[in-house]
Amino acid sequence: MNIKTVGVIGAGTMGNGIAQVFATSGFNVMLVDVDYESLERATLSIESSLQRLLKKEKISADEKSSALLKISTTTDLNILSEADFVIEAVVENFEVKARIFNQLDSLCKSDVVLASNTSSISLTRIAAQTNRPDKVIGMHFMNPVAVMQLVEIIRAMQTSDQTCQRVESVSRRLGKTPVVANDSPGFVSNRILIPMINEAIFALHEGVATAQAIDEIMKLGMNHPLGPLALADLIGLDICLSVLEVLQEGMGDPKFRPCPLLKKMVDANYLGRKTGEGFYQYH
Ligand code: NAD
Repeated sequence: MNIKTVGVIGAGTMGNGIAQVFATSGFNVMLVDVDYESLERATLSIESSLQRLLKKEKISADEKSSALLKISTTTDLNILSEADFVIEAVVENFEVKARIFNQLDSLCKSDVVLASNTSSISLTRIAAQTNRPDKVIGMHFMNPVAVMQLVEIIRAMQTSDQTCQRVESVSRRLGKTPVVANDSPGFVSNRILIPMINEAIFALHEGVATAQAIDEIMKLGMNHPLGPLALADLIGLDICLSVLEVLQEGMGDPKFRPCPLLKKMVDANYLGRKTGEGFYQYH
């Protein structure tokens, strides 16, 4: 199938970035969210991200305006009956994703691939919610989407070779590098990254060092571009906690126990950049 129109569900941190890269790569994008304000914020965020790219001379003024024209926003999921490819990027919650995939399966054309940007949830379980499990796959973009090169492709147990090849080819059309992994809690990226972030939060919680010192040590000592606590703020502390819960449940290993400080911060709605406060403050 020739993919012209892409549906993106969820207009938060990841959804707006995903919509932007599809639009700048020439696809029409239908961005869907249950929350009208999220759609408004996403539009502003895409505009300012494109403006930054224009300033850095990475895109022209024409490319900026044509990308913006390619994105339409709506709260009506039914519009996705017209999509040729769909990627879901809603909250990291299995029940919410299961419901959406079930709806998408009845709405979308039968040959449409249904991808999820989940950070950790089993693609095999998500695929089982549909009557097209061979066309369900993980397409895990990294944050910030416009900048990061990797797309981690996750094969559910049921994903066909053809679906995997199609998604690898779509990723290359976006200028990204796809790397394939099998379905397992946290896949490769978050199985390794999130426990490291959790350990940094434990170090802070136990008073081993300040947040600034922990981040400085990991930046200067390990050559990480961002310290683990600043990265947690960028990812969203709620997402970090959800991934740890999936890892803990899926692996049955206490080493994935979320730090009590992380839980407390999520309870306080200190979620990082998206709420203006996390391990650091953002204004
Ligand atoms: P977010 O909280 O910023 O945004 C989630 C959006 O989903 C919100 O706008 C919300 O209104 C919308 N939403 C909730 N329920 C919905 C529904 N039923 N239908 C349509 N929209 C709905 O979350 P995010 O950080 O963008 O994460 C989205 C997904 O991407 C999650 O699965 C997350 O694990 C994954 N992910 C996140 C990161 C990251 O760094 N934040 C990186 C890679 C993958």
